[in-house]
Amino acid sequence: MTIDTEATTPTAQLDVAKVRQDFPILQREIHGKPLIYLDNSATTQRPDSVIDAMSDFYRTSNANVHRGVHLLSEEATDAYEGARSKVAAFLNADSTQSIIFTRNTTESINLVAHAWARRHVREGDEILLTVMEHHSNLVPWQLLAQERGCKLRFLDIDESGHLQLDHLDEVLNEHTRLVALTHVSNALGTVNAIPTIACAAHSVGAKVLVDGAQGVPHGPVDVQALDCDFYAYSPHKALGPLGIGVLWGRRDVLEEMDPFLGGGEMIRDVTLERSTWAAVPHKFEAGTPSVADAVGLGASIDYLNELGTAAIRQHEVRINEYLLGRLRELPWLTVYGPQDPHDRCSLASFNDNQIHAHDLGTILDQHGIAIRAGHHCAKPLMRRLGVMATARASFYVYNDLDEVDRLVDALFEARKVFGLAT
Ligand code: PLP
Repeated sequence: MTIDTEATTPTAQLDVAKVRQDFPILQREIHGKPLIYLDNSATTQRPDSVIDAMSDFYRTSNANVHRGVHLLSEEATDAYEGARSKVAAFLNADSTQSIIFTRNTTESINLVAHAWARRHVREGDEILLTVMEHHSNLVPWQLLAQERGCKLRFLDIDESGHLQLDHLDEVLNEHTRLVALTHVSNALGTVNAIPTIACAAHSVGAKVLVDGAQGVPHGPVDVQALDCDFYAYSPHKALGPLGIGVLWGRRDVLEEMDPFLGGGEMIRDVTLERSTWAAVPHKFEAGTPSVADAVGLGASIDYLNELGTAAIRQHEVRINEYLLGRLRELPWLTVYGPQDPHDRCSLASFNDNQIHAHDLGTILDQHGIAIRAGHHCAKPLMRRLGVMATARASFYVYNDLDEVDRLVDALFEARKVFGLAT
């Protein structure tokens, strides 16, 4: 696994108190209580260095990229392309040209659905997904299936929330063109065995797309070791800005793909009748890009590298051990997903047996605790679990064990509000 789920290598521990000082929003009070931000799987907060990098760009170097012959435009282009290089190194990509900037994970997946799958998937072909996918990695394939008459198949989970890898052979065959699955489940926390699945997919000639929205935030990601063909993620879930996304693809695969959107920046030549395309990655980046967001993304990668991705993973395992232990003390709570702290990212999805998840979310908010309640854009998974919704508390680099205790205290308080036994 390229997320070090064992976390056996000793690394420097995160100094959480020091980390917290870098995040101005953590000084806020919510309903008169200090903010405890546990909605990191939805979006994380940004450190000063990211906010400053973006505002410095607008203050000192703002210009459009690639086209200008003036100094500001050259500086903006260097900043934009510099961010691409940082992302490539961060993901251990084979080449900087294989990094495409999009708006988010959703757009990255849609790009593959349009520019790769519409050329390669025909009636009678199959696409393998899993029952734990976020709607972002489900709906684009449903649209394709309606249009192309291909079949969607699904790998199920077992009772512990792991994919049933022993059933892979039954759902993969010579008709499978693509396996598209999440690296880490946003609703269970499960870390999936991507290299094992990629090996099986490649053995039948299928390509592999990994939805890394929850993968990148939680540990070192090495796209080459994962052995996938596409990897999509949203920097806003790893301390970066909202509004920019990343798609990594194998260079040879990207080169033979059609464009996604047409317009300026993505062409080599244009006549009134037809156009030819720029080389990758620019072929996939039509129009003026989010330059300041790319600059912020570069700064977020610098920050994560400074903390150390292995140290981040160890911090998460520590949070998990404590969190799962504390939640097990509450007999009225069902906690979903793998129970081994090494085997999941640092989120807990749970239900009180008497209180609806939305009510829990509202009561916790009164205590200054921000969690998410609902279907987490994974409605099929909720159905598979037999629930309408769960409450989800998701932790990141600035969360500490004390906040786990505050969460548990608030879960007791919620029982009191409803007059229920504890
Ligand atoms: N995939 C997973 C697993 C996610 O958790 C999310 C967001 O929560 C997404 C995809 C979609 O990310 P975005 O809305 O940034 O495109």
